[in-house]
Order: sequence, then structure tokens, then C-alpha cells
Amino acid sequence: MDFRLTDEQAALRDSVRDFAREVVAPVIAEHYEQHTFPYEVIRQMGKMGLFGLPFGEEHGGMGGDYFALCLALEEIARVDSSVAITLEAAVSLGAMPIYRFGTEEQKATWLPKLLSGEALAGFGLTEPGTGSDAAGTQTRAVLDGDQWVINGSKAFITNSGTDITAMVTVTAVTGTNPDGSKELSTIIVPTGTPGFTVAPGYSKVGWTASDTHELTFDDCRVPAANLLGARGRGFAQFLRILDEGRIAIAALAVGLAQGCVDESIKYAKERHAFGRPIGANQAIQFKIADMELKAHTARLAYYDAAARMLAGEPFKRQAAIAKLHASTIAVDNAREATQIHGGYGFMNEYPVARFWRDSKILEIGEGTSEVQRMIIARDLGL
Ligand SMILES: Cc1cc2nc3c(=O)[nH]c(=O)nc-3n(C[C@H](O)[C@H](O)[C@H](O)COP(=O)(O)OP(=O)(O)OC[C@H]3O[C@@H](n4cnc5c(N)ncnc54)[C@H](O)[C@@H]3O)c2cc1C
Repeated sequence: MDFRLTDEQAALRDSVRDFAREVVAPVIAEHYEQHTFPYEVIRQMGKMGLFGLPFGEEHGGMGGDYFALCLALEEIARVDSSVAITLEAAVSLGAMPIYRFGTEEQKATWLPKLLSGEALAGFGLTEPGTGSDAAGTQTRAVLDGDQWVINGSKAFITNSGTDITAMVTVTAVTGTNPDGSKELSTIIVPTGTPGFTVAPGYSKVGWTASDTHELTFDDCRVPAANLLGARGRGFAQFLRILDEGRIAIAALAVGLAQGCVDESIKYAKERHAFGRPIGANQAIQFKIADMELKAHTARLAYYDAAARMLAGEPFKRQAAIAKLHASTIAVDNAREATQIHGGYGFMNEYPVARFWRDSKILEIGEGTSEVQRMIIARDLGL
């Protein structure tokens, strides 16, 4: 039991921390306000190798592991969550399905550009009519000769409409299983394929410098070879991707929660009321102590889930616990940090306002808090 970072892990954390403070922090408020995608920041993250962190060098990756990705996500989210979710979705939802389930040809086609950050990929699971109940997928793909013909739509797909988006993986019903349930498969749809339409970006409460779109497939034809892994494996594939992704979202949530502590300490020392810094009041000190406690315990929860995953042990329950706990405390910390900032906490120019707006989605995306509780309860045999 040793949750201290190795020298290599600490060096990665420190270099991403410096990058977040020196490169992301100065420009992100403007992107957030204008709802623009921070291409320049993403390009620099590509150069640093962040998009290739958990992948083997044979595919152009950095030869690190999933925990390295989590460390990077935590440090970026400590400054900004739009950039962090762009990285999280690009790696754990975009490139990972190809890495885990793709053929050698698919890997050779897509991974070099995804792992360098030159291109992004989306993960199309959620639909306008179904999210938590992913088995309710309505999008259909029918094999017509040597092509899949896809019809349907997907909702809220991250990284699906940037200038550098190269493709999306789409979960579709491809038949009926012997037990009568839907046969789900995953199909790669390159950007620009006729019949594949990307709607204008949503107007969102938070993550406003990240890219999210509804997608429509109208007799959209792609080669049969674009099937990802085996036909009928779609369900198992997205369960695996989401189990891992929960650890990454937990790391992102911990980053946001820690960012709230950072900003609150700074403000509590600067701001004066009744003739002394507000941080001289125990009521403020206790709020910040509780925020630190929450960030710390949530960090331990995601470290534990990641350690189990990397050891090849079952980690589903621990990943759900980490995601549930970290997202809950991220919302708590954002609320308290805003409170400590008083009226200024409600002004977009202060990072805590961004943290507050960005925190709520953490209890929803990649499985709501209710879904995490369902996973935990099921794993306990209930
Ligand atoms: C900004 C953003 C980015 C996203 N990015 C992606 C992406 O890249 N790819 C992708 O595929 N999806 C993405 N999503 C979708 C996200 O994962 C879903 O919104 C989420 O899983 C919830 O699904 P839903 O919105 O359909 O809610 P619903 O499933 O309709 O749930 C509504 C409410 O009912 C509750 N509920 C549902 N079933 C039960 C039950 N059995 N018991 C108790 N409560 C229940 C839920 O917990 C929730 O509170 C994104 C969403 C957002 C907002």
C-alpha cells in the first residue's frame, strides 16, 4: 500500500501543473466567455504528448498508463475543466476504443493522428431519447453488400465537431440476439461521410470552451471494414470504456475540487472584512479545511480504482465509487468556494464561477450519480 507518486509520475504531474498555470490559465477565461474551442492550447498539449499518455509507443503513444492520464487530467482541471474534458474525451472515449478493440489496420489508420493530438475522435453512445439506458439505442446499421448503412441520431457528443475531428465511433443496433435483445455493434464513421451531419454546438451551462454536438446519420454509408471489433460486441465495448472513463472523470473532478481549495485560500488571505482577512475567521478556515478533506479522500478513491485496474483486478465498483464521490465533492467544493468569494464568486472573471458552472455536469456525464449507485449496489449482489 503506497499511494505516493514515483519520481516519474511526480515529474509528469509537475510539468502538467506548470502547463496549466502558464498556458491554460491566461487564455481560458476568454474562450469560456466567447464559447470558442482553444485550438492553440490543444496543439501544445499534443506536442507535450498528453493525448498519447496511456498508449504504447508502437502506436505513437508515450508508453505510460491510465493513471498517468488521470494525473494529467487532475492538474488541468485544477485550472480549467473545458480543456480537461477535451483531453479526457479525446483519450478515454475517442482513441481508447480503437486501441482496445480495433484491427491492426484501424489502429494504423487512426491512432497516430489521435495520439499526437493532431486529430480528435468522438464517442457516440448517448441518443436524444436514451442515455443512462444505453440498451435503448435506436440508431440502426444495416449491412448492404460491403457497406454499413446507418440511420439515427446521437446527443451530446464531445469533440465531435471541431475543425480537427477526424471521426466518431457510433453504437448502433445491427440485429437481434438469440435471446431477443438488441445486437449492438460499434462502427467508425469518418468526419465528412455523406449522410453524417453535425448540428451547431449546444448552448451549455458549463464546459463552454469544449465541443459538444448532436449528430444525425441519414442513410450514412461506411465500409463494412469500419466495424470496430466483432459484430455484437458493442455493449461489452462501451461498458469497458465507461468503467475506465469513470476513473478519469473522478480525477478531473478531484482537480476541480482542488482548484476550489487553491482559489479559496488565495481569496481568504486577500479579502478583508471587519478589519481583517476573511480567512482569519474560523468559519472560513473550516470551510476550506473541509474542502481539502474532500479533495484528498476523493483522490485516494481514484488512485485505488486506477491501481486495481492497472493490476488487472476487478475495478468496476471502485471506479463507480470514485466517480460518485469525486463528482459529489466537486459540486460541494464549487459551492463553498463561490460562497467564500461572496459577490465576486458570481462573476465570470473569477475562476470559481467557472468551477461552479463546470461542476454539475460531473454528476451527470459518463453515468449519472444514480447510475453509479446502481453499479455499486449490483456489484454488492443487490
Ligand atoms: C456536456 C456533455 C457531454 C457529453 N459527452 C458525451 C459523449 O461524448 N458521448 C456520449 O455518448 N454521451 C455524452 N454525454 C451524455 C451523458 O453521458 C448523458 O447525458 C448521461 O449519461 C445521462 O443520460 P441522459 O442525459 O439521457 O439522462 P437520462 O438517462 O434520461 O436520466 C435522467 C435522470 O433519470 C435518472 N435515472 C435514469 N434511470 C434511472 C434509474 N433506473 N433509477 C434511478 N434514476 C434513473 C438519471 O440518473 C437522471 O437523473 C454528454 C453529456 C453532456 C451534458
